[in-house]
Amino acid sequence: MDTLIIGGGLSGLTVAHKLRQLCPGHQSLILEKSDRAGGVIWSHAENGFLAENGPHGFLDNCPESRLLLQETGLDQECVKAPLSRFVRYVCMDGALRCIPQSPLKIIMAPLISPLAKLRVAGELFKKPLQGEPTVAEWVAHHFGPALLPYVDAVFTGTYAGDLNRLVIDGVMPGVRRLEKAHGSVIRGLIAKMNQARQTKTTTGGGKKGLPAMTSFPGGMGRLPEKLAESLQPGRDILLNCGVLAIRKGQSGWEVESDQGIHEARNLALALPINPSLALLHAFAPTMPQNAVPEARIATIAMGFGPGSTLPPGFGYLAPEQEKRFCLGALFSSNMFPARAPQGHILLEALVGGRRHPERLDLDDATLIRQALADLRQLLPLQGEPVYARVLRPKGGIPQLEAGYPALLNWRDQLMREHQGLFIHGFGWEGIGLNDMIKSATRVAESIRENAGANREEAAVKGIYF
Ligand SMILES: Cc1cc2nc3c(=O)[nH]c(=O)nc-3n(C[C@H](O)[C@H](O)[C@H](O)COP(=O)(O)OP(=O)(O)OC[C@H]3O[C@@H](n4cnc5c(N)ncnc54)[C@H](O)[C@@H]3O)c2cc1C
Repeated sequence: MDTLIIGGGLSGLTVAHKLRQLCPGHQSLILEKSDRAGGVIWSHAENGFLAENGPHGFLDNCPESRLLLQETGLDQECVKAPLSRFVRYVCMDGALRCIPQSPLKIIMAPLISPLAKLRVAGELFKKPLQGEPTVAEWVAHHFGPALLPYVDAVFTGTYAGDLNRLVIDGVMPGVRRLEKAHGSVIRGLIAKMNQARQTKTTTGGGKKGLPAMTSFPGGMGRLPEKLAESLQPGRDILLNCGVLAIRKGQSGWEVESDQGIHEARNLALALPINPSLALLHAFAPTMPQNAVPEARIATIAMGFGPGSTLPPGFGYLAPEQEKRFCLGALFSSNMFPARAPQGHILLEALVGGRRHPERLDLDDATLIRQALADLRQLLPLQGEPVYARVLRPKGGIPQLEAGYPALLNWRDQLMREHQGLFIHGFGWEGIGLNDMIKSATRVAESIRENAGANREEAAVKGIYF
């Protein structure tokens, strides 16, 4: 065996796919603990409604993801909801407020007071914040406190996290790099934009618009389904094959699983941070922390018949200060076609997260009742739902909190010390589907080049939520 891949979620499936593309004849084997491939990606179709247990979509602005779709033919199947046409809302003072789609319109909108806007502009004169600040500390230092509820909404929507615990070096390493180089973030962004403009004039690159949220007619489950289609069970993938231990052997890696001992030259741990750390613990005991916190959520899918409407757009998010039961809701039948039967709507409310794990202990009926009471105060929902289902994703979202940058450095050092060891997956270098596809692609490229694993310079990502 050339490469053993532990984990058959999107990360592991992408490494296997890329290895087949890049190195014909390369023998790789995925060892997957559960009885299906796909990890946390899991669509749920019932009574004509289509909801998601895990991710709802990904933005089409990542070259590695676009290439993966082309290589698999999924680019011909995907459905897109452009951000330019779908507004988002933040719940403020008990009502939904529309967030404009361009930075200029955001500045002009009456989202914060004129004085607070002046404070935001004062960022131009700010100095980098030293140490390992939380997102809240960092935003307050640079832009003032007025932006905190909006930033809260962003990190609720992406991490289901708590901005008083997430660290800026973990969640926005690209912006942090810009800040350290230029002092002010705004100055750094202006410099970056000028540089991009110059590159465009020399390379003739076109104007970039807002990206589109992407999924598939049958839901996100189609992505791992397609990637797993060409894998032969027993030869390319072993299901129900949990890995128990990893060891360094004479000429490569030795892996002990439920189904025996496997050996290979390369070992890719395509796992969320915590299962990765559990396997690395015995092999590399000096790790800075044994586990990272995770945020678990429940999705409450609710369908309504004629008479109920949804505002135009993707959905809304509620910052913690609003003290609402739901973290927010996705207007699913607005986003993609065929999410609800003709004449019906589907929305998916999110509950729990880093701040309210206790809500996940509620039974399904209570969750539905409390979520509905919350949603009715914000949305024109008529009558009782014709469909309601609580979906409880198996995995939580890794939280990049205090100590995470040190953990990432430790991982990098470990991979440098051990040729053929690749550690990537959910939470290592990001949490989004595009992050997974990007890092899995890099792992496959490093294996092809017989090179060690390396971390790419962190990019400045757009803030979409
Ligand atoms: C509720 C939720 C909503 C999300 N929404 C979005 C979204 O809208 N957009 C977006 O871009 N991203 C979203 N994400 C993140 C996205 O789903 C992840 O980035 C991605 O699916 C992670 O893929 P992975 O393969 O790295 O990990 P996983 O999907 O967790 O897969 C890891 C696999 O490893 C297996 N495994 C674990 N331990 C072992 C072991 N010891 N031996 C063998 N196998 C093992 C597991 O069974 C699993 O199949 C969401 C995540 C969650 C949980």
